[in-house]
Amino acid sequence: MNGDAVRLLVWRDALHFDRFEDLPCALCGKPTPMRSHTDEPVHKVCAEQWNHTHSGALRHVAGTRDLGTRRFHDDVPTASKQTAVRHLSQRPTPESLNLQLPITERKSA
Ligand SMILES: [Zn+2]
Repeated sequence: MNGDAVRLLVWRDALHFDRFEDLPCALCGKPTPMRSHTDEPVHKVCAEQWNHTHSGALRHVAGTRDLGTRRFHDDVPTASKQTAVRHLSQRPTPESLNLQLPITERKSA
């Protein structure tokens, strides 16, 4: 609407999920398996909300991209993780040819 929408974080890396332990969220205090890049227990939505209300916090920048705050930011896209998808060149299917097969005369021996 007016640019006040909460920016969602990109947390795809497995490091953000601790499957063994729930720890109290650093922001809301409720248990969470989620972890920030600095291993801080925090719900993703809480981190997104924190970023939203701390827009003046130090930024985490990769190249020219603003990935969020230093505290909570997106996963940095790495080239090695990108899977190159090869598209096979589409060959036009040959028109079905009406082959005029020469009528071979059977050789009678
Ligand atoms: Zn929380």
